[in-house]
Parts: sequence; structure tokens; C-alpha cells
Amino acid sequence: MPRGIDRSYHKAKWGQHFLIDDHIIERIVSYADITPTETILEIGGGTGNLTRKLAQLCYRLVVIEADRQLALKLCSIPGIDVLHGDALRVEFPPFDKTVSNLPYQISSEVTFKLLNHPFTCGVLMYQKEFAERMVAAPGTKDYSRLTVCLSYKSKVKVLARVPKTAFNPRPAVDSVIVRLVPTKPRFYVLNDIFFHRFVRALFTQRRKTLRAALMVTAQLLNVQAMDELIAKIPQHCLARRPYEFSPEEIATLSNDSFELHEVQKGSVQEQ
Ligand code: SAM
Repeated sequence: MPRGIDRSYHKAKWGQHFLIDDHIIERIVSYADITPTETILEIGGGTGNLTRKLAQLCYRLVVIEADRQLALKLCSIPGIDVLHGDALRVEFPPFDKTVSNLPYQISSEVTFKLLNHPFTCGVLMYQKEFAERMVAAPGTKDYSRLTVCLSYKSKVKVLARVPKTAFNPRPAVDSVIVRLVPTKPRFYVLNDIFFHRFVRALFTQRRKTLRAALMVTAQLLNVQAMDELIAKIPQHCLARRPYEFSPEEIATLSNDSFELHEVQKGSVQEQ
């Protein structure tokens, strides 16, 4: 096998497909546009193919790796900090950018975890289908809860497709490199936690009419009097499907539902 990668290192549960194409590694690094003062966070260092390049360019490189054997090997790369553990549990250090060929099984959770931290830019590898959901337009089959929640506080751009031949062992799925840039809120949301719960509930009914989807959402989120909100929505909107609404429109529905929820809470407390 190329680059002395021992087959025994391939652990499917950890999504271990190591980048072996130098051109792709160079491209990822150049997209990140790293300056010598920056701290970089890499999630899933693996055998260190990307890690070694990053280490040459930045002020500090912190690598999180779940596989103990690989984490130990990464420690031999001079000048980097290796954190052995699950990226979903390990506390992230402060960082400027993240550059990672992510373990695909944690794509969604780790992306939202990253977005809870301040950073300027992420250059991240995802499974192609996942990235398509990140950037989908309303009304398309890939438009999802992920698209809506990401569009609230970030901008996502697909930069390049990466063939399966760039990895060893070869994965079954195609991959893409994505730029993820955190932003200020791009539309008005009254309550972040409620918004995320609302979007999740609404998209369980993505192909139902808005009227039906709002009724189910009301049950799931314990919002009484949803019929009051429905009565204010024009008929032609109620006949549309949740996946046809823009993130801004969904935020407005969430805000109106949140207000109902708060009024209801207030009236319970008054009693
Ligand atoms: N960066 C390397 C490369 O490009 O060749 C490896 C990328 S490989 C797709 C993903 C890496 O993430 C593997 O080394 C795997 O052991 C590690 N990993 C898997 N799940 C993880 C988790 N929850 N937290 C941290 N690392 C994880």
C-alpha cells in the first residue's frame, strides 16, 4: 500500500480513509490561505498527510484524533499539539481556522459544534451528498433542516470535488471540499434554541402542506393555539410545503410560533 499505510489502521467505524493525493492536499491547504500567525484546528489527523503540510504554515496546529494508535503517531510530528479523543467531546481550543478531512459519520454534529466557536474560515472535506444538502436551494430534494440551520449563521461554498482515488483505502462515496464561513445572523431569529427545534420539527413533515406541518410541529413543541397563527397565513402559503420556504420565511414562522409559545407560558404562570 502507498505511503506505508498499514491496512490494520483502517477502522471503518472511524471513517478512516486517508488522503494520499498530494495535489488535493496542496489544494486544501491553499484554499485555507494560512498565515504564520494563525492557529489551525484539524479534526481527525489520521496518518498526518494533511497535518504535516499544515504544521509548516501556521503558528499553532491543534489536532484532535479519536484513534489512540494514530494519535500516538501524530505526536511524532514536531511542533503540533495532539488531543486524543472524540471531537464531539473534547473541548476545542481557541482557533482561527479549521482545516479537516472530516470523519463523515460526525459531519453534522461536528459542523454545528464548530459553529458554536468563533473562527474565520473552515476548509472541510465532506461526503458529496452531505455537502449538497448544506448548499441546497429551497424547493429542491436536498433542501433540508441542515441547509436552513447552516444558512442562519454561516456561508457555505463547495470548492472542489475529490475523486475516490484520492484516498486509501478508497471510500464508497464521493467527497467534496467546502468552505464554511461563520457570519452574523443572516436573518432575524427571536430565540435560537426554539428556532432549531422548530426547524427540526417542521422538516419531519417536509412534504406535507404547511398547514399540516404546523399542526404536527405545534404538537411536538407543545405550542397551543397554532390555529391562531394558521388563520393569519394566506391560503396559498398554507398549501405550500415546508421544503419550499426560504430560511428567512421559516424563521418568521418560528418567531411567530415562539411568541405563541411565550404567551401561553405567561398565561400558565399567571394562573
Ligand atoms: N486527515 C487524515 C487524512 O486526510 O488523511 C484522516 C482523515 S479520515 C477521513 C478521518 C480521521 O478522523 C481518522 O483518522 C479517524 O480516526 C478520525 N476520527 C474519526 N472519528 C473521530 C472523532 N469522533 N473525533 C476525532 N477524530 C475522529
